[in-house]
Amino acid sequence: MKQKPKLGQNFLVDPAACLAIADALGDISAQTVIEIGPGAGAITSILAARARRLIAIELDRNLASRLRAEIPATEIIEADILTIDLDALRNGSEKLRIVGNLPYYITSPILLHLFNYSSSIATAVVMMQREAADRVIAEPGSRDYGLLSATAQLYADIAHVLTLPPTAFMPPPEVHSTVLRLTMRPRFAELGIEPGTFLPFLRQAFAQKRKTLGKNLRAAGFDATRIADALAKSAIPATSRAEEVDLNRMAVLWRALHGL
Ligand code: SAM
Repeated sequence: MKQKPKLGQNFLVDPAACLAIADALGDISAQTVIEIGPGAGAITSILAARARRLIAIELDRNLASRLRAEIPATEIIEADILTIDLDALRNGSEKLRIVGNLPYYITSPILLHLFNYSSSIATAVVMMQREAADRVIAEPGSRDYGLLSATAQLYADIAHVLTLPPTAFMPPPEVHSTVLRLTMRPRFAELGIEPGTFLPFLRQAFAQKRKTLGKNLRAAGFDATRIADALAKSAIPATSRAEEVDLNRMAVLWRALHGL
């Protein structure tokens, strides 16, 4: 089979890892599972035997038609995952299980796409480049913590499942890969924040890594006195960068800035 590197086609050839990924979804015998990028079907064939309903979304036409022939019980949608309305794939109000060895070139857009549907998803077991996973699970104040970490941790409880060397794939990528399990649990209500304004606020707060949080908010148009008052009210030192502030204090800051 000819791989297309541009589509992130590094196929998993480690049978134990394929099983571990399927196992990380838990009991799926009564669930609808969506697989992102089934490729040659290494994980798909295991899921097909376990899930009540399996829908696999593959962009590559050749792979999609091959899978249709080889795993007929699976519904194959030939499409870009980023264009898929996940709500439309649910039966009633059921919560979806998502799984995938992701195409690494669009890891962040895929995660953001999943977060947009967080109320329709129970868990997502996803493989990505190890460095991306390190950023997703990083703690505030650590080197890897940033906008992706804050956003992911706002939507989900995240657990490390396994890390694989390049030799687990064909062709081997240049990087290690990590599987994470995201249990969707959006924290907006608990933190007293609104997604519509808090998410743009987060992007503004993290806009420039070398600037302090206050300077980034100033650049985004917030009034200097209001920022100083809100930082004091949130017990955030004026010298702090967004990377040092946890979500609880970021939420207090957002509320103080909005007079809430
Ligand atoms: N699941 C297979 C495995 O583990 O061996 C293949 C994983 S490979 C890393 C990523 C897969 O995603 C490829 O099959 C690729 O064609 C597919 N893909 C790439 N971009 C995609 C997109 N935008 N939407 C859906 N699938 C995509």
